Amino acid sequence: MQDQASPVASTKRARTLGAPLPDTVRAAVSLPDSTTVLETIDPALATTAAGWLKVESSALCGTDLDLYQQGLGHPTVMGHHVVGEIVSLSPAMQWSWDVEVGDRVALEEYLPCGLASCKACSQPDVYRFCPDADLWGGQRRVGMLGLHEGSGLHGGNAEYMELSTRTVLHKLPRDLDSNLAAWTQPFANAVDWVINIGGAKSGSRVAVIGPGYHGVAAVAAATAVGAEEIVVLGRNSRTSRDRLEIAEAMGASILINDNAETTSAALGSHGKGNGFDVIVDTVGLGGPALGTTEHLRKLGRLVLAGLGDTPVAEVNLKTLVRGASGVVGVRGRSPEAVTRSIELLAAGNTGLEHVPSIDVGLDGVDDLFRTLLDRSGPSSPHVVIRPAL
Ligand SMILES: [Zn+2]
Ligand SMILES: [Zn+2]
Repeated sequence: MQDQASPVASTKRARTLGAPLPDTVRAAVSLPDSTTVLETIDPALATTAAGWLKVESSALCGTDLDLYQQGLGHPTVMGHHVVGEIVSLSPAMQWSWDVEVGDRVALEEYLPCGLASCKACSQPDVYRFCPDADLWGGQRRVGMLGLHEGSGLHGGNAEYMELSTRTVLHKLPRDLDSNLAAWTQPFANAVDWVINIGGAKSGSRVAVIGPGYHGVAAVAAATAVGAEEIVVLGRNSRTSRDRLEIAEAMGASILINDNAETTSAALGSHGKGNGFDVIVDTVGLGGPALGTTEHLRKLGRLVLAGLGDTPVAEVNLKTLVRGASGVVGVRGRSPEAVTRSIELLAAGNTGLEHVPSIDVGLDGVDDLFRTLLDRSGPSSPHVVIRPAL
């Protein structure tokens, strides 16, 4: 009676469109003791799947490393920057998502409640603030749900993953280069921070603090809108120097500065004091980032993508008021930014092709986490788990 328990049977029951799934799915399961093991999982254990994705890529970001290092609450298939192909789909979600089996999509990590009574979900562009999907709240997010829920295949570090009725997805062009497609979400963050919120446009001068994953993405966003100059500031470590070289290859000027307290002076020393239209702190420098407001041009914006250890700090109010400048915190991105991200990636003028892609199979995930955490791992910030490898 194999058929009774197979995904074929369950898809028939749910009138799901698409081909049957394999009997077992390979997944990298990350454990609370900060190790990862390769397991085979029966997808028929899924109880609420609204569809299935064949994972093409699952890009790793700093949040993954933080969660892994802190200790996960339960065994988890991680991976929340996911791109893949829809291989099955319930008729209701086909209509709701306006996609078909065979479509290539990028997922957002949020799994918002979608209730009309939810202040965040009742507006189309701020569902990322749904308490259910909050990183510090409900944690209903792609790559964070435990192995004990349904099939457990809720993250990108697996050959296939469940889609839920809460999934938020965006169609990708079929011919978009796979390395660029893996940038969809982090680049969308940068598009929101640098362009939509920071106001960068053709001719802008943009400073980026930190040459990491989002720092490189911020350089790409500034490049895509034709910034006149992009300056990236990083530390004098092996990884940082390597990443600054990548930013340089993308066309940015680079500054090395090891002391957070002198960040403002370092930025001020560059470009003959011409100031910046946008300064983006991608590392969460805290107080020292606020000090850089003195280098903002009129109507400039300091964009803070992290909190740092010193959230209370002095700012130069004279600069802010006389320059009508602003300091703004950012978190995630709007859905419109994802659409723009995909358009800009497809247009091909982001410079992200200069960022080496470190591609790892599912059996390499444990080693990857370990070497990134002990700082012996690859220095390119673009690390992509590819289940097909
Ligand atoms: Zn992330
Ligand atoms: Zn909600």
